[in-house]
Amino acid sequence: MSTSTFDLFQLPDEYEELRAAVRTVAEEKIALFAADVDEQSRFPTEAYDALRATDFHAPHIGEEYGGVGADALATCIVIEEVARVCASTSLIPAVNKLGTMPLILAGCDEVKQRYLPPVARGEAMFSYGLSEREAGSDTASMRTRAVADGDSWVLTGQKSWITNAGASRYYTVMAVTDPDGPRGRNVTAFVVEEGDEGFTVGEPERKLGIKGSPTRELFFDGVRLGDDRRVGNVGDGLKIALRTLDHTRVTIGAQAVGIAQGALDHALAYVKERRQFGKAIAEFQGIQFMLADMAMTLAAARQMVYAAAAKSERDDPDLSFFGAAAKCYASDVAMQITTDAVQLLGGAGYVRDHPLERMMRDAKITQIYEGTNQIQRMVMARHLLRT
Ligand SMILES: Cc1cc2nc3c(=O)[nH]c(=O)nc-3n(C[C@H](O)[C@H](O)[C@H](O)COP(=O)(O)OP(=O)(O)OC[C@H]3O[C@@H](n4cnc5c(N)ncnc54)[C@H](O)[C@@H]3O)c2cc1C
Repeated sequence: MSTSTFDLFQLPDEYEELRAAVRTVAEEKIALFAADVDEQSRFPTEAYDALRATDFHAPHIGEEYGGVGADALATCIVIEEVARVCASTSLIPAVNKLGTMPLILAGCDEVKQRYLPPVARGEAMFSYGLSEREAGSDTASMRTRAVADGDSWVLTGQKSWITNAGASRYYTVMAVTDPDGPRGRNVTAFVVEEGDEGFTVGEPERKLGIKGSPTRELFFDGVRLGDDRRVGNVGDGLKIALRTLDHTRVTIGAQAVGIAQGALDHALAYVKERRQFGKAIAEFQGIQFMLADMAMTLAAARQMVYAAAAKSERDDPDLSFFGAAAKCYASDVAMQITTDAVQLLGGAGYVRDHPLERMMRDAKITQIYEGTNQIQRMVMARHLLRT
Protein backbone atom coordinates (compact mmCIF):
# COMPACT_ATOMS: atom_id res chain seq x y z
CA MET A 1 0.00 0.00 0.00
CA SER A 2 1.28 3.43 -0.89
CA THR A 3 -0.39 5.27 2.00
CA SER A 4 1.36 4.82 5.33
CA THR A 5 -0.85 4.30 8.38
CA PHE A 6 0.54 7.56 9.71
CA ASP A 7 -1.07 9.43 6.80
CA LEU A 8 -4.52 8.08 7.50
CA PHE A 9 -7.04 10.35 9.24
CA GLN A 10 -4.88 13.38 8.57
CA LEU A 11 -5.60 15.82 5.82
CA PRO A 12 -2.82 16.22 3.24
CA ASP A 13 -0.97 19.53 3.56
CA GLU A 14 -2.69 21.13 0.57
CA TYR A 15 -6.08 20.93 2.30
CA GLU A 16 -4.71 22.55 5.46
CA GLU A 17 -3.11 25.24 3.30
CA LEU A 18 -6.48 25.78 1.64
CA ARG A 19 -8.14 26.04 5.06
CA ALA A 20 -5.61 28.67 6.15
CA ALA A 21 -6.18 30.67 2.95
CA VAL A 22 -9.98 30.59 3.31
CA ARG A 23 -9.76 31.42 7.01
CA THR A 24 -7.73 34.54 6.22
CA VAL A 25 -10.33 35.75 3.69
CA ALA A 26 -13.17 34.85 6.08
CA GLU A 27 -11.67 36.66 9.05
CA GLU A 28 -10.39 39.70 7.17
CA LYS A 29 -13.11 40.24 4.57
CA ILE A 30 -16.30 38.42 5.62
CA ALA A 31 -16.59 38.34 9.44
CA LEU A 32 -16.73 42.14 9.59
CA PHE A 33 -20.07 42.25 7.78
CA ALA A 34 -21.77 39.16 9.24
CA ALA A 35 -23.69 40.98 11.99
CA ASP A 36 -24.87 43.75 9.64
CA VAL A 37 -25.93 41.26 6.97
CA ASP A 38 -28.01 39.48 9.62
CA GLU A 39 -29.38 42.68 11.17
CA GLN A 40 -30.39 44.17 7.81
CA SER A 41 -31.39 40.86 6.19
CA ARG A 42 -29.29 41.89 3.20
CA PHE A 43 -27.29 39.95 0.62
CA PRO A 44 -23.60 39.77 1.68
CA THR A 45 -22.26 41.73 -1.29
CA GLU A 46 -18.86 42.46 0.29
CA ALA A 47 -18.42 38.77 1.10
CA TYR A 48 -19.47 37.69 -2.41
CA ASP A 49 -16.87 40.07 -3.86
CA ALA A 50 -14.21 38.70 -1.51
CA LEU A 51 -15.09 35.11 -2.49
CA ARG A 52 -14.98 35.97 -6.19
CA ALA A 53 -11.64 37.73 -5.85
CA THR A 54 -10.16 34.55 -4.38
CA ASP A 55 -12.06 31.97 -6.48
CA PHE A 56 -13.91 30.57 -3.45
CA HIS A 57 -17.42 31.42 -4.75
CA ALA A 58 -17.95 28.20 -6.77
CA PRO A 59 -14.78 26.21 -6.17
CA HIS A 60 -16.27 22.88 -7.28
CA ILE A 61 -16.49 23.81 -10.97
CA GLY A 62 -13.95 21.90 -13.06
CA GLU A 63 -11.01 23.51 -14.83
CA GLU A 64 -12.49 22.49 -18.21
CA TYR A 65 -15.28 25.00 -17.52
CA GLY A 66 -12.98 27.73 -16.27
CA GLY A 67 -13.28 26.79 -12.58
CA VAL A 68 -10.58 25.91 -10.07
CA GLY A 69 -11.67 22.26 -9.85
CA ALA A 70 -11.76 21.85 -6.07
CA ASP A 71 -12.71 18.29 -5.11
CA ALA A 72 -15.61 17.54 -2.76
CA LEU A 73 -13.44 17.71 0.38
CA ALA A 74 -11.79 21.00 -0.63
CA THR A 75 -15.24 22.45 -1.38
CA CYS A 76 -16.39 21.38 2.09
CA ILE A 77 -13.40 23.08 3.68
CA VAL A 78 -14.21 26.33 1.85
CA ILE A 79 -17.86 26.16 3.01
CA GLU A 80 -16.88 25.21 6.57
CA GLU A 81 -14.41 28.07 6.97
CA VAL A 82 -16.83 30.64 5.55
CA ALA A 83 -19.68 29.32 7.73
CA ARG A 84 -17.43 29.66 10.79
CA VAL A 85 -17.82 33.43 10.46
CA CYS A 86 -20.99 33.89 8.36
CA ALA A 87 -23.44 31.09 7.59
CA SER A 88 -25.37 33.24 5.09
CA THR A 89 -22.24 33.77 3.00
CA SER A 90 -21.39 30.07 3.05
CA LEU A 91 -24.57 29.51 1.04
CA ILE A 92 -22.91 31.21 -1.95
CA PRO A 93 -20.44 28.35 -2.65
CA ALA A 94 -22.87 25.76 -1.24
CA VAL A 95 -25.84 26.74 -3.43
CA ASN A 96 -23.69 27.32 -6.50
CA LYS A 97 -22.79 23.65 -6.09
CA LEU A 98 -26.42 22.63 -5.39
CA GLY A 99 -27.76 24.46 -8.46
CA THR A 100 -25.07 23.24 -10.87
CA MET A 101 -24.79 19.65 -9.63
CA PRO A 102 -27.71 18.39 -11.77
CA LEU A 103 -25.83 19.72 -14.83
CA ILE A 104 -22.53 18.22 -13.69
CA LEU A 105 -24.16 14.85 -13.05
CA ALA A 106 -26.47 14.62 -16.03
CA GLY A 107 -26.23 17.62 -18.38
CA CYS A 108 -24.98 17.24 -21.95
CA ASP A 109 -21.72 18.96 -22.78
CA GLU A 110 -23.48 21.84 -24.55
CA VAL A 111 -25.53 22.65 -21.43
CA LYS A 112 -22.44 22.46 -19.22
CA GLN A 113 -20.43 24.66 -21.60
CA ARG A 114 -23.19 27.25 -21.64
CA TYR A 115 -23.90 27.51 -17.91
CA LEU A 116 -20.85 26.48 -15.88
CA PRO A 117 -18.29 29.06 -17.14
CA PRO A 118 -20.31 32.15 -16.09
CA VAL A 119 -20.66 30.67 -12.59
CA ALA A 120 -16.95 29.82 -12.47
CA ARG A 121 -16.11 33.41 -13.50
CA GLY A 122 -18.31 34.78 -10.72
CA GLU A 123 -20.71 36.46 -13.15
CA ALA A 124 -23.75 34.37 -12.19
CA MET A 125 -25.07 32.31 -9.31
CA PHE A 126 -27.14 29.14 -9.67
CA SER A 127 -30.15 28.15 -7.52
CA TYR A 128 -31.96 24.84 -7.19
CA GLY A 129 -35.75 24.57 -7.42
CA LEU A 130 -37.21 21.32 -6.15
CA SER A 131 -39.53 22.14 -3.20
CA GLU A 132 -43.08 23.39 -3.59
CA ARG A 133 -45.70 24.62 -1.12
CA GLU A 134 -47.43 21.22 -1.13
CA ALA A 135 -44.35 19.14 -1.94
CA GLY A 136 -41.57 19.56 0.64
CA SER A 137 -40.44 16.21 2.04
CA ASP A 138 -42.67 14.45 -0.48
CA THR A 139 -40.86 15.77 -3.55
CA ALA A 140 -42.51 13.34 -5.98
CA SER A 141 -45.87 15.03 -5.38
CA MET A 142 -44.70 18.23 -7.09
CA ARG A 143 -47.25 20.00 -9.31
CA THR A 144 -45.11 22.24 -11.50
CA ARG A 145 -45.63 21.05 -15.07
CA ALA A 146 -43.62 21.30 -18.27
CA VAL A 147 -45.72 20.48 -21.32
CA ALA A 148 -44.05 19.61 -24.62
CA ASP A 149 -45.03 21.98 -27.43
CA GLY A 150 -43.21 21.36 -30.70
CA ASP A 151 -39.47 21.67 -30.03
CA SER A 152 -39.96 23.40 -26.73
CA TRP A 153 -41.56 23.08 -23.29
CA VAL A 154 -44.05 25.32 -21.52
CA LEU A 155 -43.43 25.56 -17.79
CA THR A 156 -46.22 26.43 -15.35
CA GLY A 157 -46.24 26.27 -11.57
CA GLN A 158 -44.42 27.42 -8.48
CA LYS A 159 -41.42 26.54 -6.29
CA SER A 160 -41.01 27.44 -2.60
CA TRP A 161 -38.16 28.47 -0.29
CA ILE A 162 -35.54 28.75 -3.02
CA THR A 163 -32.18 29.82 -1.65
CA ASN A 164 -30.54 32.82 -3.33
CA ALA A 165 -33.58 33.31 -5.57
CA GLY A 166 -33.54 36.79 -7.05
CA ALA A 167 -29.76 36.94 -6.60
CA SER A 168 -29.11 34.00 -8.93
CA ARG A 169 -29.14 34.27 -12.71
CA TYR A 170 -29.83 30.56 -13.29
CA TYR A 171 -32.18 28.02 -11.72
CA THR A 172 -32.39 24.26 -12.06
CA VAL A 173 -36.10 23.53 -11.92
CA MET A 174 -37.71 20.11 -11.64
CA ALA A 175 -41.12 19.74 -13.34
CA VAL A 176 -43.56 16.94 -14.09
CA THR A 177 -43.44 16.18 -17.82
CA ASP A 178 -45.67 13.09 -17.79
CA PRO A 179 -48.57 13.58 -15.33
CA ASP A 180 -49.87 10.06 -15.96
CA GLY A 181 -46.43 8.48 -15.75
CA PRO A 182 -45.00 6.49 -12.86
CA ARG A 183 -44.55 8.54 -9.68
CA GLY A 184 -40.98 9.82 -9.39
CA ARG A 185 -40.12 8.81 -12.95
CA ASN A 186 -42.27 11.47 -14.60
CA VAL A 187 -40.15 14.51 -13.73
CA THR A 188 -37.59 16.31 -15.91
CA ALA A 189 -34.96 18.92 -14.97
CA PHE A 190 -34.60 22.25 -16.83
CA VAL A 191 -32.55 25.41 -16.58
CA VAL A 192 -34.61 28.58 -16.18
CA GLU A 193 -32.87 31.90 -16.65
CA GLU A 194 -33.50 35.20 -14.92
CA GLY A 195 -35.37 37.27 -17.50
CA ASP A 196 -37.20 34.36 -19.13
CA GLU A 197 -40.66 35.64 -20.07
CA GLY A 198 -43.25 34.51 -17.51
CA PHE A 199 -40.67 33.82 -14.77
CA THR A 200 -40.89 35.92 -11.60
CA VAL A 201 -39.74 35.60 -7.99
CA GLY A 202 -41.66 36.41 -4.81
CA GLU A 203 -40.81 38.68 -1.89
CA PRO A 204 -37.94 37.49 0.36
CA GLU A 205 -39.11 35.23 3.18
CA ARG A 206 -38.69 36.69 6.69
CA LYS A 207 -36.62 34.03 8.43
CA LEU A 208 -35.27 32.95 11.81
CA GLY A 209 -31.69 32.76 10.55
CA ILE A 210 -29.43 32.82 7.46
CA LYS A 211 -30.98 36.23 6.92
CA GLY A 212 -28.29 37.28 4.45
CA SER A 213 -29.29 34.54 2.05
CA PRO A 214 -32.46 35.53 0.18
CA THR A 215 -35.14 32.80 0.14
CA ARG A 216 -38.01 33.36 -2.28
CA GLU A 217 -40.73 31.59 -4.22
CA LEU A 218 -40.37 31.09 -7.96
CA PHE A 219 -43.38 31.50 -10.27
CA PHE A 220 -43.65 30.13 -13.79
CA ASP A 221 -46.50 31.42 -15.90
CA GLY A 222 -46.18 29.68 -19.25
CA VAL A 223 -42.39 30.04 -19.45
CA ARG A 224 -41.27 28.74 -22.86
CA LEU A 225 -38.04 26.75 -22.70
CA GLY A 226 -36.19 25.33 -25.70
CA ASP A 227 -35.28 21.67 -25.45
CA ASP A 228 -31.66 22.84 -25.10
CA ARG A 229 -32.64 23.89 -21.55
CA ARG A 230 -33.32 20.28 -20.57
CA VAL A 231 -30.85 18.72 -18.12
CA GLY A 232 -30.54 14.94 -18.55
CA ASN A 233 -33.13 12.61 -19.98
CA VAL A 234 -36.88 13.18 -19.94
CA GLY A 235 -38.22 11.39 -16.85
CA ASP A 236 -34.89 11.38 -15.00
CA GLY A 237 -35.38 14.71 -13.21
CA LEU A 238 -36.21 13.45 -9.74
CA LYS A 239 -33.46 10.84 -9.86
CA ILE A 240 -30.98 13.60 -10.80
CA ALA A 241 -32.38 15.90 -8.10
CA LEU A 242 -32.02 13.26 -5.39
CA ARG A 243 -28.54 12.18 -6.52
CA THR A 244 -27.60 15.87 -6.39
CA LEU A 245 -28.73 15.96 -2.75
CA ASP A 246 -26.63 12.89 -1.93
CA HIS A 247 -23.60 14.99 -2.90
CA THR A 248 -24.66 18.35 -1.53
CA ARG A 249 -25.92 17.18 1.87
CA VAL A 250 -22.24 16.73 2.61
CA THR A 251 -21.76 20.45 2.05
CA ILE A 252 -24.59 21.21 4.50
CA GLY A 253 -22.76 19.00 6.99
CA ALA A 254 -19.68 21.17 6.36
CA GLN A 255 -21.73 24.31 6.88
CA ALA A 256 -23.00 22.92 10.19
CA VAL A 257 -19.46 22.03 11.30
CA GLY A 258 -18.32 25.56 10.45
CA ILE A 259 -21.15 27.23 12.39
CA ALA A 260 -20.43 24.98 15.39
CA GLN A 261 -16.69 25.71 15.26
CA GLY A 262 -17.38 29.45 15.20
CA ALA A 263 -19.61 29.12 18.26
CA LEU A 264 -17.12 26.96 20.16
CA ASP A 265 -14.21 29.32 19.37
CA HIS A 266 -16.17 32.30 20.60
CA ALA A 267 -17.36 30.53 23.75
CA LEU A 268 -13.82 29.34 24.57
CA ALA A 269 -12.45 32.88 24.40
CA TYR A 270 -15.31 34.17 26.56
CA VAL A 271 -15.10 31.62 29.39
CA LYS A 272 -11.41 32.37 29.87
CA GLU A 273 -12.16 36.09 30.30
CA ARG A 274 -15.45 36.12 32.19
CA ARG A 275 -14.99 36.05 35.97
CA GLN A 276 -17.59 35.04 38.57
CA PHE A 277 -17.11 33.90 42.18
CA GLY A 278 -13.58 35.29 42.02
CA LYS A 279 -12.31 33.19 39.14
CA ALA A 280 -12.59 32.71 35.37
CA ILE A 281 -15.72 30.67 34.67
CA ALA A 282 -13.50 28.31 32.60
CA GLU A 283 -12.17 27.03 35.93
CA PHE A 284 -15.52 25.49 36.89
CA GLN A 285 -15.76 21.80 36.11
CA GLY A 286 -19.39 22.18 35.04
CA ILE A 287 -18.23 24.56 32.28
CA GLN A 288 -15.25 22.36 31.36
CA PHE A 289 -17.48 19.32 30.85
CA MET A 290 -19.73 21.31 28.51
CA LEU A 291 -16.70 22.47 26.49
CA ALA A 292 -15.33 18.93 26.30
CA ASP A 293 -18.65 17.54 25.02
CA MET A 294 -18.90 20.32 22.44
CA ALA A 295 -15.38 19.71 21.11
CA MET A 296 -15.83 15.91 21.16
CA THR A 297 -19.06 15.88 19.13
CA LEU A 298 -17.69 18.52 16.77
CA ALA A 299 -14.60 16.40 16.05
CA ALA A 300 -16.83 13.38 15.32
CA ALA A 301 -19.09 15.45 13.05
CA ARG A 302 -16.11 16.80 11.11
CA GLN A 303 -14.72 13.29 10.55
CA MET A 304 -18.12 12.12 9.25
CA VAL A 305 -18.39 15.05 6.89
CA TYR A 306 -14.87 14.53 5.52
CA ALA A 307 -15.42 10.78 5.09
CA ALA A 308 -18.68 11.53 3.26
CA ALA A 309 -16.88 14.13 1.11
CA ALA A 310 -14.38 11.47 0.03
CA LYS A 311 -17.32 9.20 -0.85
CA SER A 312 -18.92 12.05 -2.81
CA GLU A 313 -15.71 12.58 -4.77
CA ARG A 314 -15.49 8.85 -5.59
CA ASP A 315 -19.26 8.66 -6.18
CA ASP A 316 -19.37 5.59 -3.93
CA PRO A 317 -22.51 3.44 -3.91
CA ASP A 318 -23.04 4.07 -0.18
CA LEU A 319 -22.89 7.87 -0.60
CA SER A 320 -26.67 8.12 0.07
CA PHE A 321 -26.17 6.72 3.56
CA PHE A 322 -23.04 8.72 4.37
CA GLY A 323 -24.33 12.00 2.88
CA ALA A 324 -27.52 11.72 4.94
CA ALA A 325 -25.64 10.61 8.07
CA ALA A 326 -23.07 13.41 7.83
CA LYS A 327 -25.72 16.10 7.30
CA CYS A 328 -28.01 14.72 10.01
CA TYR A 329 -25.32 14.22 12.64
CA ALA A 330 -23.41 17.45 11.94
CA SER A 331 -26.57 19.57 11.97
CA ASP A 332 -27.81 18.05 15.24
CA VAL A 333 -24.35 18.67 16.71
CA ALA A 334 -24.34 22.27 15.43
CA MET A 335 -27.74 22.94 17.03
CA GLN A 336 -26.53 21.49 20.35
CA ILE A 337 -23.18 23.30 20.29
CA THR A 338 -24.60 26.69 19.38
CA THR A 339 -27.29 26.32 22.08
CA ASP A 340 -24.64 25.38 24.65
CA ALA A 341 -22.42 28.24 23.51
CA VAL A 342 -25.26 30.71 24.15
CA GLN A 343 -25.60 29.12 27.61
CA LEU A 344 -21.88 29.53 28.30
CA LEU A 345 -22.13 33.26 27.67
CA GLY A 346 -25.17 33.64 29.93
CA GLY A 347 -27.03 36.90 29.26
CA ALA A 348 -24.28 37.98 26.85
CA GLY A 349 -25.11 34.96 24.72
CA TYR A 350 -28.69 36.10 24.31
CA VAL A 351 -28.01 39.59 22.99
CA ARG A 352 -26.67 40.77 19.66
CA ASP A 353 -23.43 42.25 21.02
CA HIS A 354 -22.01 38.75 20.55
CA PRO A 355 -22.49 36.51 17.49
CA LEU A 356 -23.76 33.48 19.44
CA GLU A 357 -27.49 34.14 19.19
CA ARG A 358 -27.04 34.58 15.41
CA MET A 359 -25.09 31.33 15.18
CA MET A 360 -27.81 29.49 17.11
CA ARG A 361 -30.50 30.88 14.78
CA ASP A 362 -28.38 30.05 11.72
CA ALA A 363 -27.68 26.49 12.90
CA LYS A 364 -31.39 25.57 12.95
CA ILE A 365 -31.80 25.59 9.17
CA THR A 366 -29.16 22.88 8.74
CA GLN A 367 -31.59 20.43 10.40
CA ILE A 368 -34.32 21.39 7.91
CA TYR A 369 -33.12 22.05 4.36
CA GLU A 370 -31.91 19.56 1.78
CA GLY A 371 -34.31 17.21 3.57
CA THR A 372 -35.23 17.43 7.24
CA ASN A 373 -33.34 15.21 9.64
CA GLN A 374 -36.37 12.91 9.77
CA ILE A 375 -36.01 12.46 6.02
CA GLN A 376 -32.24 11.83 6.42
CA ARG A 377 -33.09 8.99 8.80
CA MET A 378 -35.49 7.59 6.20
CA VAL A 379 -32.72 7.74 3.58
CA MET A 380 -30.30 5.96 5.93
CA ALA A 381 -32.83 3.29 6.87
CA ARG A 382 -33.74 2.69 3.23
CA HIS A 383 -30.06 2.11 2.48
CA LEU A 384 -29.65 -0.24 5.47
CA LEU A 385 -32.70 -2.31 4.59
CA ARG A 386 -31.76 -2.56 0.92
CA THR A 387 -28.26 -3.90 1.50
C1 LIG B 1 -34.36 28.76 4.43
C2 LIG B 1 -34.74 27.65 3.51
C3 LIG B 1 -34.04 27.45 2.34
C4 LIG B 1 -34.41 26.42 1.47
N1 LIG B 1 -33.77 26.29 0.26
C5 LIG B 1 -34.26 25.44 -0.67
C6 LIG B 1 -33.74 25.44 -2.01
O1 LIG B 1 -32.80 26.18 -2.34
N2 LIG B 1 -34.30 24.61 -2.91
C7 LIG B 1 -35.33 23.78 -2.61
O2 LIG B 1 -35.79 23.05 -3.48
N3 LIG B 1 -35.85 23.74 -1.33
C8 LIG B 1 -35.34 24.57 -0.38
N4 LIG B 1 -35.87 24.58 0.89
C9 LIG B 1 -36.99 23.69 1.22
C10 LIG B 1 -36.62 22.61 2.20
O3 LIG B 1 -35.79 21.66 1.60
C11 LIG B 1 -37.93 22.05 2.76
O4 LIG B 1 -38.47 23.03 3.62
C12 LIG B 1 -37.72 20.75 3.51
O5 LIG B 1 -37.35 19.73 2.63
C13 LIG B 1 -38.96 20.31 4.30
O6 LIG B 1 -40.12 20.39 3.54
P1 LIG B 1 -41.40 21.14 4.17
O7 LIG B 1 -40.92 22.46 4.64
O8 LIG B 1 -42.49 21.11 3.19
O9 LIG B 1 -41.76 20.29 5.43
P2 LIG B 1 -42.80 19.07 5.49
O10 LIG B 1 -42.44 18.06 4.44
O11 LIG B 1 -44.18 19.61 5.51
O12 LIG B 1 -42.44 18.46 6.89
C14 LIG B 1 -42.99 18.95 8.12
C15 LIG B 1 -42.48 18.04 9.25
O13 LIG B 1 -42.93 16.69 9.02
C16 LIG B 1 -41.81 15.81 9.01
N5 LIG B 1 -42.07 14.73 8.04
C17 LIG B 1 -42.50 14.84 6.74
N6 LIG B 1 -42.61 13.62 6.20
C18 LIG B 1 -42.24 12.72 7.15
C19 LIG B 1 -42.14 11.30 7.21
N7 LIG B 1 -42.42 10.53 6.14
N8 LIG B 1 -41.73 10.72 8.35
C20 LIG B 1 -41.43 11.47 9.46
N9 LIG B 1 -41.50 12.83 9.46
C21 LIG B 1 -41.89 13.45 8.33
C22 LIG B 1 -40.63 16.66 8.58
O14 LIG B 1 -39.41 16.10 9.01
C23 LIG B 1 -40.94 17.98 9.31
O15 LIG B 1 -40.53 17.86 10.65
C24 LIG B 1 -35.47 25.56 1.81
C25 LIG B 1 -36.15 25.75 3.02
C26 LIG B 1 -35.81 26.77 3.85
C27 LIG B 1 -36.60 26.97 5.11
